[in-house]
Amino acid sequence: MPHRTALNHPRGTSVTRQKVQAKWLIFINMPQSKTALLEAPPIEPLATVPTQGGGGTPPLAKLDFPMATAATISPEVRAKYEPVIGLEVHVQLLTETKAFCGCVNRFGSPPNTNVCPVCLGLPGALPVLNKRAVEFATLASLALNCQVREHSIFARKNYFYPDLPKGYQISQFDKPLAEHGHIEIPTPTGPKRIGITRLHMEEDAGKSLHDGFPDSATRTYVDLNRCGTPLIEIVSEPDMRTPDEAYEYLTRLKEIMLYTGVSDCNMEEGSLRCDANVSVRLRGAEKFGTKAEVKNVNSFRFIRAALEYEIERQIEIVESGNRVVQETRLYNANEGRTYSMRSKEQAHDYRYFPEPDLPPLIVPDAWKSEIAARMPELPEARRARMIAEYGITEQDAHTLTATRAFADQFEAAARAAKNPRRVANLVQSELTMRLKAAGLELDQSPVSMSGIALAADLAEDGKLSSKQLKQLFDLCFERNEDFATVYEREKPQQISDASTLEKMIDDVIAANPAQVEQYRKGKKTVAAFFVGQVMKASKGQANPALLNELVTKKLDN
Ligand SMILES: [Zn+2]
Repeated sequence: MPHRTALNHPRGTSVTRQKVQAKWLIFINMPQSKTALLEAPPIEPLATVPTQGGGGTPPLAKLDFPMATAATISPEVRAKYEPVIGLEVHVQLLTETKAFCGCVNRFGSPPNTNVCPVCLGLPGALPVLNKRAVEFATLASLALNCQVREHSIFARKNYFYPDLPKGYQISQFDKPLAEHGHIEIPTPTGPKRIGITRLHMEEDAGKSLHDGFPDSATRTYVDLNRCGTPLIEIVSEPDMRTPDEAYEYLTRLKEIMLYTGVSDCNMEEGSLRCDANVSVRLRGAEKFGTKAEVKNVNSFRFIRAALEYEIERQIEIVESGNRVVQETRLYNANEGRTYSMRSKEQAHDYRYFPEPDLPPLIVPDAWKSEIAARMPELPEARRARMIAEYGITEQDAHTLTATRAFADQFEAAARAAKNPRRVANLVQSELTMRLKAAGLELDQSPVSMSGIALAADLAEDGKLSSKQLKQLFDLCFERNEDFATVYEREKPQQISDASTLEKMIDDVIAANPAQVEQYRKGKKTVAAFFVGQVMKASKGQANPALLNELVTKKLDN
């Protein structure tokens, strides 16, 4: 099993794999003593919570900490308190190579294969900054309305962890790349601006693999491929007041990152990771309460759930006359609760100092302008334009701009179609519902956007009834074929002969005198009832445009 080694020893010395593993195991299996980081309770790996590093996550530990039960709080008590939430988001940049060396920056390679003396931190190796990483970080900063500093400084963030062979991460500290940004999020009471304190560049750490191996119960494996992956860390102001706002912030932030193309934001692969700071205070109080940090929650849904839990836990503590302890907590998604990981007294002191191996990073105005010129239309602006241009609703616009590729395809189809609004409707009504049911992403859809445009035009011209449209879409999904193919083969029969339709309309009118009476007394909307009845009688084959026309004519006579 060549790739299941704990570490392919980089210097090729005579150290055996077993010895290398044993070296790492000393740390993980370290017996608890007075000098150990965590007191009393034994360290027990939480197999259900993935470690994602990127800020030096210590061993996952489960402590017996007095737990609030949460959910015992009445809505009245809950309403007395205001949560205060700030988020720290790590985003991996989609560069070809790592931040400070030429190693390929790719997820999923065999463990410990994308490494070199620089990212392994071997003595004498020197970092060289990746220009593309700076461009991506600057583009992201500008997209988040940040001011980009002309001079920023790289700093060393020192700590020991088995997946950090250098013993420090190159990061930025007091002079980050960018500051003072913001994004807008929708809330029930209208748009709200969430401040962005800073955006800085740093490198990722490697990965400790606590499970997935036959001997995972007793050993932890280390994969150093991720060492040196370029990251940006985006720190928000403590401006969010509900878990929903935090969820919206993350959704908007991810959308912006995806639109700029700086990251794939794949949470499962760890390219977007979030830590949340949360505290509670009595409504109207100015001073913030003591905050807890919830680390490395691996989906937006879980972050919302973790925040809900944490807010209730803190309110319960305050209500019972106790004090919230400043600490780092981990969320366990299976149990829906957070666990204490380390308290403030045990928090890291990273001993930041300027990185002596890298000169100051200088982003002159000319370069900044060049990067800004590559800024694509961002989601918020695009939605506003699409609403105006295609006469679609805000909700349509949100669905259609879910990804940049989706929006591009929609716009191409809408511009080609006779009625863009109809294209939007079909996407909403026929496409997304079926994709969801089939568990497919848009790029896996059997029906292309040009297929949607064709369907929209046929419906617009009255050549297909809505029932026929639905049947054709069903066939597309059943057979995994595009709309044009299915339509050409099926060419649904349509009754476009006026006298046949008139006969059917007469029958329906004769059978429904009460509705005819309503119509003639002025309730013109009843016409739709007759259209529906005839359509049903024709098994969906009546030409809808002609049918509409004839029904109105008959009823008005
Ligand atoms: Zn390298």
